[in-house]
Amino acid sequence: MTDNIEVRIIASGISVIDSGYFSSDFAAIYIIKHNNKVAIIETGTAFSVSNVQKALKQDGLSFMDVVYIIPTHVHLDHAGGAGELMKQCRNASLIVHPRGSRHMIDPTMLIAGAMAVYGEQKFKKLYGEIIPIEASRVIEADDNFILDFDGRELKFIDTPGHARHHFCIWDKQTESMFTGDTFGISYRDLDYSDEVYIFPSTSPVQFDPEELIKSIHKIMEYNPQRVCLTHFAAIRPTQKVVEQLIDGINFVSNLAKKYATKDEAKLVIHNEMMDYFLKGVEKSGFKDLDFCRKRLELDVKINTLGLIHWQQITTTI
Ligand SMILES: [Zn+2]
Repeated sequence: MTDNIEVRIIASGISVIDSGYFSSDFAAIYIIKHNNKVAIIETGTAFSVSNVQKALKQDGLSFMDVVYIIPTHVHLDHAGGAGELMKQCRNASLIVHPRGSRHMIDPTMLIAGAMAVYGEQKFKKLYGEIIPIEASRVIEADDNFILDFDGRELKFIDTPGHARHHFCIWDKQTESMFTGDTFGISYRDLDYSDEVYIFPSTSPVQFDPEELIKSIHKIMEYNPQRVCLTHFAAIRPTQKVVEQLIDGINFVSNLAKKYATKDEAKLVIHNEMMDYFLKGVEKSGFKDLDFCRKRLELDVKINTLGLIHWQQITTTI
């Protein structure tokens, strides 16, 4: 382990690293250092643990300094590495949404769900091993739960819409909100000068547009200086950014309602969503649309599956 990892400081005591999941700068891990103690928000996968170790080491820290490990929700790009990381960080507690805790203690259902989508071989390649976490090391954070992180207040806010087991974390000191996938996806390599492009994540299986929009407003009530997205890194949540995100939620929801039960639903929803995103990126001034198409391909694919699933359950209830 000789090579260094890029550690980007985004606010006082907060840095972001690449988890290495799927492609470069696709899924982030945040490290909050306070009084030489560490809280880690998002874990990436079991393969991301070495990146965390490198980042800690570069800052003169080790796994032993980690006191909290906090996945925003239990999707595997956020929490897949939690078991392995908890195994290494012996002083750490896991803080998780009450609806997600049982899946961290017994990951059987998480594994089965992802295996059904990817097949065993691809699953192992993407996520490695998902390790259970002892129940005694798990803390459930209800809505408005306040954690005293050695004098630094972290507040947990229930934010359904992307998933029902999703919370966001408010760092009062820097006025930063860690938003997981609730506040959408926006990649820094698609920025054009000060312009960012942001779009919703509707991945399976609990997308709920009304709840998602409510959660976004809930986040904005805190007036955050920055929202720290897992996909990828921190942006300033201007009015324009919020409007773009909500327009995106409305657009893809309507797309799903219109096409989900039709033939070729997958293809049509995928293509229309991609066109809409590309137009949005182009409008922000970014020129390389081929790059953009490749960058967004996986998100559009996963979003399409989530939208179709949402419509199937909505129409069968
Ligand atoms: Zn995610």
